[in-house]
Amino acid sequence: MGRLDGKTVLITAAAQGIGRRSAQLCAQEGATVIATDVNEPALQLLAAETPAVQVRRLDVLDKQQVEALAAELADTVDVLFNCAGWVAEGDAAATSDDDWQRTFDLNVRAMFWMCRAFLPAMRRRRAGSIINMSSVAGMKGVARRLAYGASKAAVVGLTRCIAADHVTEGVRCNCICPGTVDSPSWRGRVAASGDPEAAHAAFVARQPMGRVGTTDEIGWLVVYLASDESAFTTGAAMVVDGGWSM
Ligand code: NAD
Repeated sequence: MGRLDGKTVLITAAAQGIGRRSAQLCAQEGATVIATDVNEPALQLLAAETPAVQVRRLDVLDKQQVEALAAELADTVDVLFNCAGWVAEGDAAATSDDDWQRTFDLNVRAMFWMCRAFLPAMRRRRAGSIINMSSVAGMKGVARRLAYGASKAAVVGLTRCIAADHVTEGVRCNCICPGTVDSPSWRGRVAASGDPEAAHAAFVARQPMGRVGTTDEIGWLVVYLASDESAFTTGAAMVVDGGWSM
């Protein structure tokens, strides 16, 4: 018997990284999983590797697409995992208006759209778990992550407000705050740094455990927050950071 038998989980940004691994673990635990992303070739690879996962194209920056998907599926979705996010690098001087806008559009506004679109059906059914992707950068100051850190702190606020609004209605909302996790975009940031070896060493050095996290280590928390085992947990910002912020 799986922890998520009978539940339907919808995940954004599920073609790679944490979203992808979470989709696989939720399916392994018995959920019907709808994995969405803009990257269709990567979605097809996921479907080929894990046939239990259904894949759908969804650009969360397109409000019409978000609302159309919710009109089609919201009545069946028990768990919404809003994983989409993007890292802008830089301090205030190095953050352009475009970086700021793109960061808040994807990391915060699109998440708000997803929550707003899927909440009414959860409230009607008096059941639902929303899981939002924040970051430890939303809980502590991280150098050269100005827009990213501000956006991920906004995710914590959004999460707590949704949790407070619907705490008596059977709808829970929590967020996850990972430290550095090995994912394709993280590898891309290391490779693009100019000195990949030094960049890798610097990422590892800021984790007291002496390593970065794995997508499994975040994906199992997604399974927990999706499951009824976490029924008493709402409004929480769950830090999984190898001790970075302790
Ligand atoms: P990633 O960055 O490697 O992949 C991101 C995915 O998002 C891609 O598949 C991409 O196609 C998709 N995407 C981008 N724009 C989209 C859009 N408009 N609509 C739908 N999908 C879109 O994955 P990751 O590194 O595991 O990061 C996933 C989430 O976890 C992000 O919100 C990130 O901020 C957060 N996070 C990551 C780390 C880390 O170290 N990797 C740490 C803390 C938080």
